[in-house]
Amino acid sequence: MDQQAGLRVTVKGIVQGVGFRPFVYKLAQRLSLRGWVRNTNEGVELEANGDEAALQTFLDALRQEAPPLAHIDEITVTRRSPNGHVSFEIKESQVGASGFQPISPDLATCPDCLRELFDPADRHFRYPFVNCTHCGPRFTIIRDLPYDRPLTTMAGFGMCAQCASEFQEPSNRRYHAQPVSCPICGPQIWLVQGEEVVKDQEESLRRVRRLVAEGQIVAIKGLGGFHLACDARNPNAVAMLRRRKARPDKPLGLMLADVEAILRYCEASQAELAELQSARRPILLLRPRPDCGIAQEVAPRQNLLGVMLPYTPLHYLLLEKADGIPDGWVMTSGNRSEEPILTDNATAQTQLGQLAAAFLMHNRPIEAGMDDSVVRVDAQTGKLAPVRRARGYAPGPVHLAWSAAPTLAAGAEQKSTFCLARKNYAFVSQHIGDLSNFETLQAYEHSIAHNERLFRVQPELIAHDLHPDYLSTRYALRRAERQGIATLAVQHHHAHIAACMAEHGLPANSLVIGFAFDGTGYGTDGAIWGGEVLLAGYREYLRAYHLNYMPMPGGDLAVKQTWRLALAWLNLLGIEAEPALGTAQVTPEMLRGARRQLATGLNAPLSSSMGRLFDSVAALAGLRTAVSYEGQAAIELENCSDPDEGTGYAFEVGEGSFSAEGVIRGLLADRAAKVSLGRIAARFHNGVADLVLELAENVRRRDGLETVVLSGGVWQNMTLLAATRARLEAAKFQLYTHHQVPANDGGISLGQAAVAHHVLNGRGA
Ligand code: ZN
Ligand code: ZN
Ligand code: FE
Repeated sequence: MDQQAGLRVTVKGIVQGVGFRPFVYKLAQRLSLRGWVRNTNEGVELEANGDEAALQTFLDALRQEAPPLAHIDEITVTRRSPNGHVSFEIKESQVGASGFQPISPDLATCPDCLRELFDPADRHFRYPFVNCTHCGPRFTIIRDLPYDRPLTTMAGFGMCAQCASEFQEPSNRRYHAQPVSCPICGPQIWLVQGEEVVKDQEESLRRVRRLVAEGQIVAIKGLGGFHLACDARNPNAVAMLRRRKARPDKPLGLMLADVEAILRYCEASQAELAELQSARRPILLLRPRPDCGIAQEVAPRQNLLGVMLPYTPLHYLLLEKADGIPDGWVMTSGNRSEEPILTDNATAQTQLGQLAAAFLMHNRPIEAGMDDSVVRVDAQTGKLAPVRRARGYAPGPVHLAWSAAPTLAAGAEQKSTFCLARKNYAFVSQHIGDLSNFETLQAYEHSIAHNERLFRVQPELIAHDLHPDYLSTRYALRRAERQGIATLAVQHHHAHIAACMAEHGLPANSLVIGFAFDGTGYGTDGAIWGGEVLLAGYREYLRAYHLNYMPMPGGDLAVKQTWRLALAWLNLLGIEAEPALGTAQVTPEMLRGARRQLATGLNAPLSSSMGRLFDSVAALAGLRTAVSYEGQAAIELENCSDPDEGTGYAFEVGEGSFSAEGVIRGLLADRAAKVSLGRIAARFHNGVADLVLELAENVRRRDGLETVVLSGGVWQNMTLLAATRARLEAAKFQLYTHHQVPANDGGISLGQAAVAHHVLNGRGA
């Protein structure tokens, strides 16, 4: 026999609930190693005895052959003398009080489980909750660590003998799959239609399918909450859903039956298809084929459709192919406008009772509400650009280039997320919603408590937005006072830039040229910022340039009634308003009121917002003079923009600020000359891209900085992003944009955590 040796190995990362221990077990068997493996609450720990060559192969294979859903961050190996193990075994979990580790996001049904779902000979045949070590619910069902069944929402389901034996057999792919269940012992579905309750599974499924085919709306409880579903090809059904949900324009997500359906309705690149089919199963924004058959009402005046594939066994059963059953369903979050996704059967019935003809329920509780994620694939780079980060991605951590003290970053207000940082992990929460009502605030606080428990974070510092009235700021200050925790206010646009720096792991002493272009953020002078060029490090920033302030007559009203912004421009340029603003929505009285606000400055707050400039341009170009959700005008402006080059409208750059006066004059002249809307839009986009290049060049000349960071909601505009990237790269700037967290306010919490860490460290130094 060769020389015997021993190793103690710890593995950190996402290594629990993904089949890691059975993998180690089988690998050890194959290499005739002896020892043990166990979960700890920092990851996985193991001891292996055997000959040198086998141990080396073992270590190589740990990384190279790891299960597909495992994500290894770190492997630590120490030598130990072999200590007489005679076999290899899987030991019970060891629980410490303060250890912590990343938790796997929820994962789409794997090919093996899918095969069983449709195999009449299998005991999981047509079982809507079939899952295994490689797939199924994770984060949404975990109440506390360690990840063992009693601490999940599966606690109430005792395993039948067969499930239990699969659960205990190391060579089975259900070995220690905590949510494992079958028709005998697991969760069940049923249908509630009016007073009637249908308990039979197949009858429930048939009814839902028939109702949807008939143009009705059905509420369906899924993985992270309720969806509202209807036939995506039926304009009346979609229009009815919009009316009942009070959501006139915002695009609705679709679930298409399979890849074939995706390609029939939409165009998709290889990279896009790969992401759609990944275990994350996001909603991807794709270009629909002309006259593809999806109702216009799904995404009015948009040139992209948000589509996803089925991701739970229940979805596969619902969208199973059959004559007369639509292969494209609207699947939009089951909630009232802007409120969090509903997760509880009774609450859903009360709140959605008027919206849905029937409810498809199940009895597996949802611990963490989770929306579907929305992402785009950047056509230039093939990389992801998240728009809404939730199911499949959260709570996957962002890896930090430093080791953070336990920190809570409270986030912003719209598209709210929070972030818990600890050591070199930043756990950015799933998308929670607009923190403007009681329900969202409750979901936010519940979610913070859940994540602090799971990731064992007791914040020593709470970072928050500078805006005193954000509910997240109030939460942060209230809690900090109650618990005697230090706080730090972080300026909104500084947080945007720091978020992008952090996700790229830029070093502590980095200085960048940050273009923070967005809708709204509280400035240090009390004005509403949003067209900001910052010389930024993590710790500090200098406001190098900003868009000249414009009044917003009517304050918040002007965010939706964008004609008010247009009026402010016309007023500034001394142009008669009526012809340009000729619209039925604006009465002479409203116009008089807005003029008075402009003249007196009362209720006309000042703003340097780039988002508001997009709104103004859309209004003055004749595209629309009101919006029903923020960003709508900018999205439509991007959609109608001609791809061919038009000379950009020129901004005028001054000392520390830049003016859009020339841009507005240029577009009004074009409009008077009957230039097409598409060309006006293209010239505007190019003008903004030219501006970014000019300002970046100025800063480089003056301060020698070469690195440009783009963040803020405006950068979700792929047309603008592409034009800007082309110019900056041609001029040899180093460019960073968002791939892990959204460029919109969903990324703010990460930036706050990054700033907090460096400010804290700066104080210590
Ligand atoms: Zn599976
Ligand atoms: Zn069972
Ligand atoms: Fe923002």
